[in-house]
Parts: sequence; C-alpha cells; structure tokens
Amino acid sequence: MTSSYEKPRTFKTEGVVLRQSSSGEADRMLTVYTRDFGMLRLVARGMRRPNSRLAGHLEPLVHASLQLARGRGPDVVTGADTLHGHTALRSNLEGIARGLVCAELIDAFAPEEQANPELFHLLLHALDMLNEGDGDLLLWHFAFHVLVLTGYMPELQQCVMCGRQVEPDEHLFTPGLGGVVCSRCARDGDPGGPNERAGAPLLPLSVNALKVLRFFRDHPYDDVRRIRIDGALSRELERVEGGYIRYLLEREVRSAEFLSRLSRLLPSGG
Ligand SMILES: [Zn+2]
Repeated sequence: MTSSYEKPRTFKTEGVVLRQSSSGEADRMLTVYTRDFGMLRLVARGMRRPNSRLAGHLEPLVHASLQLARGRGPDVVTGADTLHGHTALRSNLEGIARGLVCAELIDAFAPEEQANPELFHLLLHALDMLNEGDGDLLLWHFAFHVLVLTGYMPELQQCVMCGRQVEPDEHLFTPGLGGVVCSRCARDGDPGGPNERAGAPLLPLSVNALKVLRFFRDHPYDDVRRIRIDGALSRELERVEGGYIRYLLEREVRSAEFLSRLSRLLPSGG
C-alpha cells in the first residue's frame, strides 16, 4: 500500500487516463490509473493552452509515462509521454464507448492510491484488445475480472443462501448476495426471502450463461475470445453482470448505458 505522504517530492510512473475535467482557465484535473500508485487525482497545469506539451499525451484512454511532483493539493503532472495512444480505439464512437466502460469500471472499483499491478495490466490488455477491434465479449470478461481483483468475485458454485452445490438448471443469480441461489432457497424464500432480504431481484441464469461465467473466471481472455456467444446469451450476460455491478455501485454505469444505446443504432454491435 502506498499513501501520498510516502511518495517522494518528484516521482515517475505510468498510467492510463480515465477521465479529465476543466480546472480554472487553463488547467485540467485528471483521474489516472497508475501502475505504481493505483488511482491518482492529478492536476495538469496549462494543459488547455494551445502550446501545452502535455495535452496530446493525457487524453482519456491514452497510456502514458508520467513525471509527477507532490503538490499541496493534488499531485502535479510535470511531464508526460505517450506509450500507447490506442488511436484506432479512439477514432470511432463505438470504440470510445467501450474504452470508457473500462475506464469507468476501474474508476468505480479501484481504491485511491493503492497499487494493484494485476488490475493495471488487465486494463492495459483490455484497451489493447479493444484497439485491435475486439468487442463486447472483451468487456464482459474484463468486467468479471475487475470484480475478481477488487474483492467482488461472484459465487458460481455454491448457493449463497444454503451453501449447497448448485445443480445444473436450478439456479438464479442474486446481485444482493453476489452469487447463485439454488431453486429450493429461491422457492422457500419467496416472497420475503433472499430476494427481499438482499434488497435486489433474483435474476434467471441459464446453464449456458453460468458456464460462460465460470469460463470467464477460469480462463484468460486469449482463450475466451475463441468462444462464440449469440445475441440472447450476450443479453443475459449483460443482465446478470450488469445487474450485479449496478447493485454494487448503486447506480447505472453511465458509459455502459451509452454503449447499449449506441449498439441499438448501429447495424451490428459486434
Ligand atoms: Zn440454497
């Protein structure tokens, strides 16, 4: 664990810009997920001026090396160089929307100033794959592993109510308890049961969707990208994973909403 007072006066790291906002006339506030310090809120002075040396290197979804100085408030970016601009990804709306889903999930789940190298590499790998043109399957696998690496791995083997191994075809998913519920518990408890106690709906979970989620859990994306997922299964994964994430965040993931609106407008949202 790293906290701000342990950082030296000036330091270097690398990171991915998750979002930026204006600050004063010429500055930008940046949220950056870094390799060595986890999430940092930084200020880039003068970045909105036309001759800024920082500007091109600190756009959202750019992977950059960073020179930083400890500030009285947020740390200050004193230098930045692009390591990977993800330019293909950032050149179309669908790519941007998918990239921003990744950024928003990291922003929502990663704690401030705590390095998590595995999570950092998961993010880099996801942006690289999106940059090469991969689509929603990458997003679902990425989202699953963000949950795993931040302590919210869904329980997919045992009923979260009674602990019994779930049998094929007799399970539901409850976002409130973060896992599968067997048919007996679902029946016994409804209404006023796990559903209500958990304060969240029970979602149907097909055998195929459960298999895919277990495959996500047990395999790297390079294995996952070979499987084929039809539209119905894709919507089910969106409902189950999205439902769990929304429950954890107690709000919608804004860019995911944007992405689903966008995919309805496009001929094929691969
Ligand atoms: Zn049970």
